[in-house]
Amino acid sequence: MDSAAVENDLVETLFTEKQIQDRLGELAQEIERDYDGKDLVIVGVLRGAVMVMADLARALDRHVEMDWMAVSSYGSGTKSSGVVRILKDLDGDITGRHVLIVDEIIDTGLTLSWLTSNLGSRGPASVEICTLLRKPEALQMPVEAKYVGWDIPNEFVVGYGLDYRERYRNLRDIATLAPHVYS
Ligand code: 5GP
Ligand code: MG
Ligand code: MG
Repeated sequence: MDSAAVENDLVETLFTEKQIQDRLGELAQEIERDYDGKDLVIVGVLRGAVMVMADLARALDRHVEMDWMAVSSYGSGTKSSGVVRILKDLDGDITGRHVLIVDEIIDTGLTLSWLTSNLGSRGPASVEICTLLRKPEALQMPVEAKYVGWDIPNEFVVGYGLDYRERYRNLRDIATLAPHVYS
């Protein structure tokens, strides 16, 4: 990867690697406290949540099972298609178990609203959401996230799992993308 070329695509760093790790550490403490003595499965939403899952899981000082789902609600661009489809289902059974969905961002809320009710219909003990970012102004569906890293303005961001056309996911920081990239 040509690092100068990548930097030219970014406008502003919103959260650094260090800020992200610190915030995930705080959320992990809340989760440890809330689920003390309970059987917990964290479900990462592929592919964007890979980084958050890896770092949140390692920040948790307790047993936790990690499972994954892949759903599609976005095409290749920056607008929601409005369609949710399961591309990969959970490997494990969540009946009677406490489920925490882990995602990197809530934008319209379409994906997580749909996923919460889908997982809720499988007889879990509970279903909650942890998201690193949330855009309150973009919300179209009611979604209650119990753990939120930060609320951000309605801008398209990349890095730390967040992509634009499958690029930028491997950036360590979270940044806004320059308009010249998508025009
Ligand atoms: P929602 O269903 O809440 O609209 O968003 C679903 C997915 O859209 C997110 O999990 C994420 O993959 C993608 N998305 C939403 N907003 C952004 C953004 O600002 N940047 C990037 N890279 N992806 C986003
Ligand atoms: Mg996601
Ligand atoms: Mg994407």
